[in-house]
Amino acid sequence: MEKKPSSKRKRAKRLKSQNKKLRHEKDDSAAVEEVDERQEEGKEEPSASAFAKRTKSQGFSKSSTFLDKMKARLSGGHFRMINEKLYTCTGKEALDYFKEDPALFNVYHAGYQEQMSHWPEQPVNIIIKWLKNGSPFLVVADFGCGDARLAKNVENKVFSLDLVSNDPSVIACDMSKTPLDTSVIDVAVFCLSLMGTNFASYLKEAHRVLKPGGWLLIAEVKSRFDPNTGGADPKKFSKAVCELGFTSELKDFSNKMFILLYFKKKDKQNPNRKEIEWPELKPCLYKRR
Ligand code: SAH
Repeated sequence: MEKKPSSKRKRAKRLKSQNKKLRHEKDDSAAVEEVDERQEEGKEEPSASAFAKRTKSQGFSKSSTFLDKMKARLSGGHFRMINEKLYTCTGKEALDYFKEDPALFNVYHAGYQEQMSHWPEQPVNIIIKWLKNGSPFLVVADFGCGDARLAKNVENKVFSLDLVSNDPSVIACDMSKTPLDTSVIDVAVFCLSLMGTNFASYLKEAHRVLKPGGWLLIAEVKSRFDPNTGGADPKKFSKAVCELGFTSELKDFSNKMFILLYFKKKDKQNPNRKEIEWPELKPCLYKRR
């Protein structure tokens, strides 16, 4: 005959099952902490299971901050994906990409601003200072203007050009083919915008729209011009720009994050110009923070 469990044994069984449940919950929270820590270090995307565990075991207020973190991480990932796309396709492909889904442009720029906020100095501010020191009558073309900060901060007439226009002052186009007339611009600016694989055609377009003696200002991410880490040789790049019809006026390598190159358009084009050998510019891929 089977023995009936005593009340003592029943209590022990109940306690055992409660302990098991507690242990299980503890395991869950430990897993969540680990994901959180990794998020802080920016080493791993949060997993769906960690998300499920978190929402299950935590209250709404805590999980909403987790949700905020999740959203930030996802949009960070999305930014890096769009960024990589822009550095590995042509300007025409980039234009079509944003035409299909213009909202991606805002995702890109939210991520871009986030990255820039960690830079001690922004190259666009150096260019703004440079313009403020010159004549306000110089006509400027800002190739790849982003949020058109340049135009908003100088007195000069600025043609702001980018793939998408969220602002009536921005001309939406692929900058290898702008609607600007020939020889009308005094200063052409490329501030972190030589992204497409056909970047040489952007510089050719700048040469077309610039007046003779006009300035070409290029600010680019330093690592793209560091031959020790697979970047282009700045001398080769500068030589190619000069062959296009410019003279090199100034090179500024003093900043840790970016380089600044200043050129002037020559008065006359060399009629016997041979094919220009452009060095490859490697993509600038941002790290997860
Ligand atoms: N110059 C701005 C934004 C830099 S981000 C600043 O310094 O803050 C680079 C910008 O170049 C992006 O807005 C991107 O859309 C633009 N861009 C890249 N390729 C382009 C192309 N082919 N035609 C027009 N804009 C382009």
